[in-house]
Amino acid sequence: MSKDLLLIDGSNGGGQVLRTALSLSMITGRAFRMKGVRAQRSRPGLLRQHLTAVRAAAEICSAETLGAELNSMEIEFRPGRVKAGAYSFAIGTAGSTLLVLQTLLPALLRADGQSTVRIAGGTHNPSAPPFEFIQNAWLPLIRKMGAKVEVALLKHGFVPAGGGLVEATIQSSAFKPLELVSGSDGPAEIVTAGALVSAIPVSVGSRELDWVASRLSLERRYLTVTDLGDQAGPGNAVSITATRGGVTNVFTSIGKERMRAEQVADAAVGEFRDWAQSNASFGNQLADQLMLPMALAGAGRLTTARLSNHIRTNAAVIEQFLPVEVGISSGNNQVWIDVGRRSR
Ligand code: AMP
Repeated sequence: MSKDLLLIDGSNGGGQVLRTALSLSMITGRAFRMKGVRAQRSRPGLLRQHLTAVRAAAEICSAETLGAELNSMEIEFRPGRVKAGAYSFAIGTAGSTLLVLQTLLPALLRADGQSTVRIAGGTHNPSAPPFEFIQNAWLPLIRKMGAKVEVALLKHGFVPAGGGLVEATIQSSAFKPLELVSGSDGPAEIVTAGALVSAIPVSVGSRELDWVASRLSLERRYLTVTDLGDQAGPGNAVSITATRGGVTNVFTSIGKERMRAEQVADAAVGEFRDWAQSNASFGNQLADQLMLPMALAGAGRLTTARLSNHIRTNAAVIEQFLPVEVGISSGNNQVWIDVGRRSR
């Protein structure tokens, strides 16, 4: 076994630890072997989305892989040089296109030249960032950190039909440190609450927003129902967009069959409240998705509502690849994530 091969235990984390390892392997040139991929998930191992991330990463940096197969729980990845270019990937199911994009983006930002990446699959998935979150919360922050990237939603895709399409245009650029800590940035302010309906009655979206409005005492002017008609398969999402300390967060819940409109709405309200009741600027999901850009910048600091397993497991993988330390502490009803260069 090569001593340069990083051995990573994926068993405590989800797909994110694999995606972070792929991103960092492409960037640092370090090969890795991960065992126990998604071991504790109900369907462990590589699902289509994860497999597409592995294959797409391999194509972009001419990597050699072992175990890149459906349901595989062990994978080896030996990267080559990252090449800018025009790429197109299809997940083959409704798996999240945006998680695949997040895997490839850091490496393509460092490549020599402009890239375009098209990914077909889902754009509004449970347990993944939906397009509105990427567009209105994550992208503005990584652009602020220096990333030159545009992402367009060309077609919506919901579970189970899929058929969505996103396209990203990426130019060479580097991350610079992000310092956004709140502490006393005042109350959370809701900007808008939206319901997206596709091939289901518009009344479902209206009921969802009525529920959100009654739970959060919102006036009607904050509410927007968007009806996609029949252009995509059946699908439904509720999003609450809110700011604090100059940071925009998007809290989303994805509807599914036999789930009542009020339950879908309540899930988004619960996510929002969880954050609003803390003093933090960043929701947990936004926080875990900013850790890799912060680490690549070499430094950064943010506050989030709670310490999630995603935050903990992502920190461990980042520290294996990069000479950084991810400090996590709590106080004043928030959790601080502090990324800095390792002293030794
Ligand atoms: P994993 O479960 O390890 O595949 O990682 C899922 C990723 O999706 C994590 O970065 C989560 O923060 C993110 N995520 C899950 N649900 C949402 C959501 N509703 N909005 C934004 N990001 C999400």
